[in-house]
Amino acid sequence: MKVKVNTDMCEGHAKCQGAAPEVFRVGDDDVSVVLVEEVSKDLEEKVNRAIRLCPRQAIAWVK
Ligand code: SF4
Repeated sequence: MKVKVNTDMCEGHAKCQGAAPEVFRVGDDDVSVVLVEEVSKDLEEKVNRAIRLCPRQAIAWVK
C-alpha cells in the first residue's frame, strides 16, 4: 500500500517519524516527507500508529 502526507495540514510535529522512521522523515522545512512510497507489510502497523499519533490527521493510506 501507499501512504501520503497532506503537506498543507502537516505542522512538522514529527510524531510520524517517531512511529515509523523507515517511512517518514521531517525535513528542515518542518514538512513531513514520505520516504517510502510503497509500504511493505511489516511496516504497515507502524504507519497505522503514525496515522493515529499525527495531531493534524495529515497522513492517509492511498487506495
Ligand atoms: S505527525 Fe503529522 S503533522 Fe507531524 S510531521 Fe508527521 S505528518 Fe506532519
